Amino acid sequence: MVDSPSLSRPARPVWAELSLGALRGNYRALRALAPAAEVLAVVKANAYGHGVDLCAPACIRAGAHWLGVTSVEEGVRVRTLGPDPQVPPVPKTSPDLQTPTDTRILVMSGLHPGEAAAVLAHRLAPSVWEPYQLDLLAAEARQRGLPPQSVPVHLELDTGMARQGLSVPGARNELAALLPRFAAHSPLRLEGVMTHFHSPEVLEGATALQIGRLAAALELITAQGVRPELLHAGNSATLLGGSDLPALEALALRHGMGLMLRPGLALYGYAPSFVPPQAPPVALRRVLAWKTRITSLRTIQPGETVGYNATYRAAQATSLALLPVGYADGYNRLLSNRGTVLIRGERAPIAGRVSMDQVVVDVSGVSGASIGDEAVLLGEQGIHSVTADDIATLTGTISYEVLCAIGARVPRLAVG
Ligand SMILES: *Cc1c(COP(=O)(O)O)cnc(C)c1O
Repeated sequence: MVDSPSLSRPARPVWAELSLGALRGNYRALRALAPAAEVLAVVKANAYGHGVDLCAPACIRAGAHWLGVTSVEEGVRVRTLGPDPQVPPVPKTSPDLQTPTDTRILVMSGLHPGEAAAVLAHRLAPSVWEPYQLDLLAAEARQRGLPPQSVPVHLELDTGMARQGLSVPGARNELAALLPRFAAHSPLRLEGVMTHFHSPEVLEGATALQIGRLAAALELITAQGVRPELLHAGNSATLLGGSDLPALEALALRHGMGLMLRPGLALYGYAPSFVPPQAPPVALRRVLAWKTRITSLRTIQPGETVGYNATYRAAQATSLALLPVGYADGYNRLLSNRGTVLIRGERAPIAGRVSMDQVVVDVSGVSGASIGDEAVLLGEQGIHSVTADDIATLTGTISYEVLCAIGARVPRLAVG
């Protein structure tokens, strides 16, 4: 083996391969499901663990005008990303900003004290609902001498999630009291009204109540003479499920607003589990594969054990392979003695506990397993696959968490 001359790039053989072509295809397929609506690409949480540096430019290339993040930090990161290596460079209109200047970035989780300057400097569109959030923005805008209606904000309404947003109808009075903040002389412009559905994958009416509350709140907003341009609600399940789209479209139309949906998970090739079960109306391609290589091999005799606390005991002579990946990389420890990886097109079960930085797999059923062989932790090989849903089932969580858990020390590589 040749020594790597520079370790500026991690040389440990653990990496994630991203098909940006699949990401672009997924974005376009989702957009085709709601042709009259805008489709914001959610790239929060490092693009669901995929790597925002690669994914945000790919979404823009696929036609996304809006990207969604959940912190100002992420928004700044997205704004200052270099151009997509696969596209000709975008002309720079500002020396420090490289994302196309017409890309809009929605910060979907409010803003915190100390963040208003970055919101304005990087032209982020924050979601807001607490009066203090509006105070922070208005104060910063005045300090900069910004003209009326120059700072776009998106008002979040809580229609039943009870997480963030102004709750309606409970806080109708507070809503009415907030609206003058967007008057013609204010630097703040109410560009969008948004809400989030709690059970959009439940296709039999779970969302109708929330849409009803949204409709009543919009009546109040427009009755006070405030005219937001965009109405946005709905995630991957809303787009793929389809049943709530007509009501949202009608509501936007009634108020002369554009409709926008905000899918995340589906962009990355995963669909929620619908109730009742329903196959997604479009074929989504998984964007990420997570891989490593065999770095050592051994054979243990019957009765010998593997790993911490000897939780695996060999019933017969067993061939074991070492993989240099562990729970510190986000490979869940609950996969101990339960998960499988793919090697030479076969399934190799995990033997013993997943360690912090290593895992041992049983390769007795993999003929010819050798040092250097690729092992697929997540993805496809031959006729088999391991999906984030498979891992989620084994570890008692959802695909979202499996993907987001892939550690920062795992390099993300674009593979076309
Ligand atoms: C995460 C998130 C989404 C995307 O949800 P998916 O289920 O991943 O499609 C949309 N809107 C908001 C406000 C979110 O926080």
